[in-house]
Amino acid sequence: MRQVVILGATGSIGCSTLSVLAMHPQQFKVLALTAATQVDKLLAQCLEFQPRFAAMLCPKAAAELKAALASHASATEVLAGPDALAELAAHPDADIVMAAIVGAAGLLPTLAAVEQGKTVLLANKEALVMSGELFMDKVQRHGATLLPIDSEHNAIFQCLPAAFQQAKQRPALSEMGIAKLLLTGSGGPFLSRDINTFATVTVAEAVAHPNWSMGQKISVDSATMMNKGLEFIEARWLFNCAPADIEVVIHPQSIIHSMVQYTDGSVLAQLGQPDMRTPIAHALAFPDRISSPVQPLDFSQLANFSFSKPEPERYPNLYLAIAACAAGQGATTALNAANEVAVAAFITEQIRFTDITRLNEKCLAHFLNYAARSLDDIVALDFEARAYAQQLVRTLN
Ligand code: NDP
Ligand code: MG
Repeated sequence: MRQVVILGATGSIGCSTLSVLAMHPQQFKVLALTAATQVDKLLAQCLEFQPRFAAMLCPKAAAELKAALASHASATEVLAGPDALAELAAHPDADIVMAAIVGAAGLLPTLAAVEQGKTVLLANKEALVMSGELFMDKVQRHGATLLPIDSEHNAIFQCLPAAFQQAKQRPALSEMGIAKLLLTGSGGPFLSRDINTFATVTVAEAVAHPNWSMGQKISVDSATMMNKGLEFIEARWLFNCAPADIEVVIHPQSIIHSMVQYTDGSVLAQLGQPDMRTPIAHALAFPDRISSPVQPLDFSQLANFSFSKPEPERYPNLYLAIAACAAGQGATTALNAANEVAVAAFITEQIRFTDITRLNEKCLAHFLNYAARSLDDIVALDFEARAYAQQLVRTLN
């Protein structure tokens, strides 16, 4: 029986994780669930899965949860505050930690799990975008097992040789006969929308992803294709490769989840429904396989597959992220911070859809050559870049 902690249990990935775990009660037990503020949702999850611990970022929400659980005579112990999330991620009884908090807030609790050598299932891509080099060093130093949940990275991982998947120190791709990683993306909801109308994109239009059902922030990132940019940076660190080894390919059907091209001309791809419960089930059971609630693919029902290159004018954010990746960890931390501020401002209707790009561009230009090596540097730069971006939100208004 492996004990699982879910950071961000009430989110899209958290709920998908619980739906896979519910199918395998003999193999997995929920040790702890965490959320930020959503009391009712976490309460329902605690009553169903009876974890030993629950934690909420917001102390007031934690107090409400505690009272509600007491009224149900629940034995779940409730903790509060950001330190409690990190404490549960590092709990001695935790075998697997699902890192599914959205944004930079996921960095410290995820690192706490890495530092205890846990098996970390990484959905929180922003953690790697901010601290890739430091994060991967810690994974190695503390003997943690890092398994990608992001569907593209999970697909690439599945297409890599077993020697790479299980290596303590990840070898260079060229040593494994690999020529290139092909990172696929659907192109989001605006693949064929007239670019001249982007300034009037509404929040409802931006979060309506054609293939995937996800949280709000990643849905907006998919519309700008910043999501693919963050994934580009994520792939660079996860797979120990150079930016030149990664190519982004638009595949609007989202059935191929990414591919690996070998030097002999072979291309291996992982296919499946656009449903995160497949990569989650894969990583939970790795190196074995377990069932998931996902419907199998029916090839007689599939439309034609198509592929294209992402146009720079349509997806400038993708290219900003690629530029940041080449510049270094300071640039990626600052761009990630700017983008979180910009997306939040767009969702609350303070800025237009096209302002997300303007804000990210200005922020990246300002912080492009900043160095951020230690965790303290990264946290300080994240803070500074957010303040700079907030200032830009006010001037764009
Ligand atoms: P959601 O917005 O649906 O869920 C976010 C979760 O994090 C919720 O449980 C939320 O709690 C919690 N949370 C939010 N802010 C904080 C904070 N400051 N401190 C602690 N907890 C917090 O996000 P998703 O599930 O969509 O995404 C999670 C991560 O996974 C992101 O990094 C995303 O990029 C990545 N990912 C998601 C995919 C998807 O299909 N959704 C696919 C690939 C990657 P509460 O509910 O209380 O607010
Ligand atoms: Mg993805």
